[in-house]
Amino acid sequence: MKITDVRAVQPETPGSPPDWRTSLGQILVAIDTDAGLTAYGVGGGGAAGIHVVKTVLRDLLLGRSPENVEDLWREMYAATLAFGRKGLAVMAISGVDLALWDLRGKAARQPIAELLGGRVGQAIPTYSTVWEKVDEQTAAGRAAVKLHVDRTGMRDPVAQTVEAVRAARKAIGGQRELMLDAWMQWDVELTLALDQALAPYNLGWVEEPISPDDLAGYERLARECKIPIAGGEHEFTAFGFAPLIERRLHTVLQPDVNWCGGLTELIKIYRAAGQAGLRVCPHRGSEIWALHAIAALDPAPLAESGRPWMTWVGGQPPIVEGCITLGDAPGFGLQLDEATLRMLP
Ligand SMILES: [Mg+2]
Repeated sequence: MKITDVRAVQPETPGSPPDWRTSLGQILVAIDTDAGLTAYGVGGGGAAGIHVVKTVLRDLLLGRSPENVEDLWREMYAATLAFGRKGLAVMAISGVDLALWDLRGKAARQPIAELLGGRVGQAIPTYSTVWEKVDEQTAAGRAAVKLHVDRTGMRDPVAQTVEAVRAARKAIGGQRELMLDAWMQWDVELTLALDQALAPYNLGWVEEPISPDDLAGYERLARECKIPIAGGEHEFTAFGFAPLIERRLHTVLQPDVNWCGGLTELIKIYRAAGQAGLRVCPHRGSEIWALHAIAALDPAPLAESGRPWMTWVGGQPPIVEGCITLGDAPGFGLQLDEATLRMLP
């Protein structure tokens, strides 16, 4: 089998937020082959990601045999090294890598979860990420809830965050797990203060309290915080996760398979974290791209709710009574009619 084309577009996503998640948002990568198979992946980077695919990755893959995904990944990484390593270029590689894996699954007529040694059809518990306020209806049926707080404009971030967590804990009750996401907006001192102030609310983790580049800060937090520290959705490749794992800077690692380099990298991260006894809980894990890895590789599966505006991703299983179940379609199971997609220019 040979690759005959690599295409990348950014489908329109009505309802997506008016920020980088749209302007540099998710791209669809399609790989065509001379065997008549077309496979799909989703990466990131918007028009910039598409540019990387069209000008670098496509040339590298045309005419090549797609079977050895891991070798092709290394070549893509090397070809983008001068301007890549992290960020948009790796988000683009992620989409191509996932399309190569989709092709691998379609060629073998197997779901990716089965290729990875797992099985489909099992109900995987999910958690919901909610912004600012948890109401009982949103939380209903979910195994756990994560509260996303925006520190911008807070006059007293300790008191206001504690109040938000108190209200969320009240809404979901004492039994279910509650987590907190700070989206890189705190600093070390604020995190230490909140670690103490939030002790009564039994949080499962505090996510991305500080910048992913502040490893010295994370070292201190890992040492001093009682609440487990989570992070990694803005980290890239197994190289980027290595210090987080080796220095045990996060208790819960949250790679995003559509950004971190694709399934090739997610598998390596799962393996390294498992050897270190650390948990992996992929970012937006209930989307089909990460869900197959969760179903196959995760000893304590918990899938985060996905992006509600990714409506063009057909074949995405629904969350029913707090759980999500993969079907047995080959590859990732994406159902797509390219002719009906509306693209951003
Ligand atoms: Mg997050």
